[in-house]
Amino acid sequence: MIATAVSIVFLWICFAVVTAIAGSSRGRAPALWALLGLLFGPFALVAALVLPRKLGHTHVACPACAEPVLRAATICRYCGSKLAGIVGPSAADRELTAAITKRAERWALAIVGGIALAAFIIAAS
Ligand SMILES: [Zn+2]
Repeated sequence: MIATAVSIVFLWICFAVVTAIAGSSRGRAPALWALLGLLFGPFALVAALVLPRKLGHTHVACPACAEPVLRAATICRYCGSKLAGIVGPSAADRELTAAITKRAERWALAIVGGIALAAFIIAAS
């Protein structure tokens, strides 16, 4: 009985760590994603894995294909466009970041809603 409880706690801590790594690799706050992984386990991990990469100080959107590329890059790794002259976030860059954030928020809301619905169905049965 205690061994089972310890296994479940260990599994949930693993979810927290892997979710933090997945969130961090997409430019998100690792501590927040560790907390989400601890609270929601596999659901948070799936959410972190489907998150689009957040543009930050290190990346800009390619003006040709809109994929995130390193700010220091001179050629887009996705479409091969020359990137010389990109020095700061453009209006298109800010627009893309806002769109990505909005999509991530919708995903998070859908996942939390799904968990709440599942908890309600389990509690009602
Ligand atoms: Zn490109």
